[in-house]
Amino acid sequence: MFEKIKGQDKTIEILRRSLKQNKVANSYLFSGPEGVGKFTSALYFGMAVNCHATLDRRPCGVCPSCSKFLSFSHPDLIYIFPFPKESGKSDITVQGEIRSDKTLMEYEEYISNKMKSPWKEFFFSKNIGIRIASIRMLEHRIQLSPNEGNYKIAIIEHADLMNVQAANAFLKTLEEPPEDTIIILTTSKPNSLLPTILSRCQNLNFYPVPKTIIEQELQNFDTLEIFEAKMIARMVNGNIEKALRLMEGGRVEVRQQTLQFLQFVLEKDDRKFLELSNQFRTSKNLSKLEEMISQLIMWLSDLAYFKHEQSEITNLDKTEMLETLFNSNPEVEDYAPDLINFMEKMLQRLTGHVNPQLVIIEIFNRFKDTFNNQNQSAAQ
Ligand SMILES: [Zn+2]
Repeated sequence: MFEKIKGQDKTIEILRRSLKQNKVANSYLFSGPEGVGKFTSALYFGMAVNCHATLDRRPCGVCPSCSKFLSFSHPDLIYIFPFPKESGKSDITVQGEIRSDKTLMEYEEYISNKMKSPWKEFFFSKNIGIRIASIRMLEHRIQLSPNEGNYKIAIIEHADLMNVQAANAFLKTLEEPPEDTIIILTTSKPNSLLPTILSRCQNLNFYPVPKTIIEQELQNFDTLEIFEAKMIARMVNGNIEKALRLMEGGRVEVRQQTLQFLQFVLEKDDRKFLELSNQFRTSKNLSKLEEMISQLIMWLSDLAYFKHEQSEITNLDKTEMLETLFNSNPEVEDYAPDLINFMEKMLQRLTGHVNPQLVIIEIFNRFKDTFNNQNQSAAQ
């Protein structure tokens, strides 16, 4: 099943080799950008060391052990990830029981999503973290003998979100992990981890997935035009998870709405824009907004190429809109870099506690200032 992980050949080869030579480490750190397969690789590696198939076919994905891993029900899989805190109480017992009904509900939904698509990111409703109760649960469970497998597999996803207390407690666990346990941390921010944690793990790097590989993967979707595959591959910066997510959920809709947004900018239609922006009053459609901002960045980069390098343009089917935008402010060399910078800041801001609607309003105003349409209105 390792071949399902795209663009990480070197890293996967290291894992395969350690399996073949039966030289697995007790603790690993999988670090690299979001959406490139760190968690899936951790899961598959854990499956492989416990798989019943012959060595070269591990993980097979179908034996009883693999099946249990894939449904997150293997008794030797300990999966720790950041989740919300209910105020005032310890949220999880050492046996791994979650005390609050609300958290439990969200937790179960998270796992069931993860089961359907392990490679995908899911988010909880509010401030998440890995707290000491989870680490205590981990400690407790790794002290027990494996139930069915050769190894207990502990995966700590987004390990950088451990709070100080949890990190210190975890350090003790890392000092002497039981021989029959493999602990795998995943993170996109290795520098946020304690240096002492870093130094105790075997570090494996994951890399942005090359554009060509993402393009190839996207071409498996027959509804997609080649230029669209190109556009998405360019847009996601090596994040294959994001590329696939865009394919699944509302990509066409977001593209349509991005076009509307631009139309409202040019027409200075505040009323219609407000209607459009109302869907972002809560964070429910946050990923849609992120997608929209990424697409707007793509439009800006198209504008920058519009006069001189048409081969670099991604919105090839919308040259009319590009032309209109260009004509409403041809000084693109002057404004594009700043505006793209500004948009990236806005994307960053969405990761904090911010009202998404205010972000899109700010963007709208900035676009109206930039594409003020003076030339056109003068001509009319
Ligand atoms: Zn198997």
